[in-house]
Amino acid sequence: MCAMIEPIQPPTNPTRMVRCYHCRRECTVSARAMSSSCPHCHRQLAIADIIVREKHWGTRLQTCGKIVIERRADARVNIVQASQGVEVHGSLKGHVISYGPVMLADTASLDGDLEAPAVYVAPGAKIIGGRFSIAPVRPDAPQGD
Ligand SMILES: [Zn+2]
Repeated sequence: MCAMIEPIQPPTNPTRMVRCYHCRRECTVSARAMSSSCPHCHRQLAIADIIVREKHWGTRLQTCGKIVIERRADARVNIVQASQGVEVHGSLKGHVISYGPVMLADTASLDGDLEAPAVYVAPGAKIIGGRFSIAPVRPDAPQGD
């Protein structure tokens, strides 16, 4: 009998699953990538977590990872969209769309609409206003293109 010859494997490229914040579908990206494009909707995706440490005024914060608003941060944006969740320790004003749980720490202040599968509010957190929609993420509910 011949010895089994191991097929030569190309070096593995570690990947991970992320959820596209445009079309909500899951896709595989390189584990080391900072950005990629969605194979379903072909739009650009930011993958790295976003940490806001100070004043940040802008249009949108979007990532397939997590968004963390630190204690001293003052973030005012139109859209805050994170596939893995949002952690708020500071002040956040904007429309939050998260496909992971949202955590409002005791020092958090949130002013805006919130869409998330779950929200944890620590005693002391302030919710100034907004319409909350807390429901599980439907994986196959792509938004219109
Ligand atoms: Zn997509």
